Amino acid sequence: MTRRGVAVLGSTGSIGTTALRVLGRHADAFYVAALTAHSNAALLQEQAREFGPSFVGIVQNGAEDHREWRHGPSCLVEAATHQDASIVLNAVVGAAGLDATLAALSAGKRVALANKETLVMAGALVADACQRGGGEIVPVDSEHSAILQCITGRRGADVRRLVLTASGGPFRGWSRERLERATVADALRHPTWRMGRKITIDSATLANKALEVIEAHFLFGLPYDRIEVVVHPQSVVHSFVEFVDGSVLAQLGVPSMELPVLYALTHPGRIADTGVPPFDPVELSPLTFERVRHDDFPALRMGVQAGRMGGAAPAVFNAANEQAVSLFLEGRIQFGEIPRAIESALAAEGTAPSHSRDALLEADAAARRHVRELFAC
Ligand code: NAD
Ligand code: MG
Repeated sequence: MTRRGVAVLGSTGSIGTTALRVLGRHADAFYVAALTAHSNAALLQEQAREFGPSFVGIVQNGAEDHREWRHGPSCLVEAATHQDASIVLNAVVGAAGLDATLAALSAGKRVALANKETLVMAGALVADACQRGGGEIVPVDSEHSAILQCITGRRGADVRRLVLTASGGPFRGWSRERLERATVADALRHPTWRMGRKITIDSATLANKALEVIEAHFLFGLPYDRIEVVVHPQSVVHSFVEFVDGSVLAQLGVPSMELPVLYALTHPGRIADTGVPPFDPVELSPLTFERVRHDDFPALRMGVQAGRMGGAAPAVFNAANEQAVSLFLEGRIQFGEIPRAIESALAAEGTAPSHSRDALLEADAAARRHVRELFAC
């Protein structure tokens, strides 16, 4: 078998380190062609020593000791288009990952996409880059990986509805009053997944599920009224697909990102793996499902509404959320202010122009500015 080169963007993060663990177990099928990180030079150096990629990039300056590395934001695009990589695992967090996704797709590569934010902000541009460059997107997000695994080999026209599962996050049983003043420590205590800080807060507000509904819309081409969300606290059923005859398929597994990462590399094939935890339905039971408390977690509805509006609205939703989450993590605003910031930014900037990458980046910047001004930050 010829080994495929993988560029791992965001290699020092939660998904990045998971991906390197998976790649380390499958050195017969894959090799690490490139690594990039934002700032953790020590860990990046350790990874570079272990995997020996031909390209290493760090975004933040200040790692001058490493003269052989590329420095600055453009290293992401360089890694994403590197000739040794045929797969680009984009595990950068937030809008910063956009250009790398577009460049990799334009260069005809497979993008194993964890960085859902950039598909949300620029779904149409990403689809266009895919089509023109001959690249493909395979989702890493566990819900979308589940859906892809259920529909692969079937006709798109046979799919009636997608039902994404949501753990409900750390605040599933909290009252609205208690939610309003939840602390950063409370919000970072996710019940089933260990993830980066930004997505952990998104899981607490359910903004993550809004991003995932929009992600599913662009990945699978279904209208928003055929994509639903159900709360499933155990995170074992990773999503459901309902077909036109009423039959429903689901993909299940112990909550671990190793399988969706591996599947994004091997899709539509599979390879044997020993790292994914064993599945025991009795051990994992009971599996329960609940309705979403939309009134208490308004970010989900706002995000889906932004998806329906289309144009720049999803980019504005995403940017306002990123900015509000970062202010919350800095202790400058309360938890309950995150959805209010998003609502206000969507009302002010939701209909901004969206015809190009630059227009979307302008909408993104305007939404961030709006949120900072709202809180005088
Ligand atoms: P993380 O914060 O743990 O890691 C982010 C990585 O990106 C780090 O390597 C960091 O150095 C790099 N990075 C951060 N800012 C950057 C910038 N401005 N430019 C370039 N690189 C930058 O985040 P994570 O939890 O691994 O999540 C990464 C992406 O995967 C997010 O889009 C998230 O929504 C998605 N995702 C994560 C999980 C999970 O289990 N962690 C599951 C599904 C989807
Ligand atoms: Mg997910």
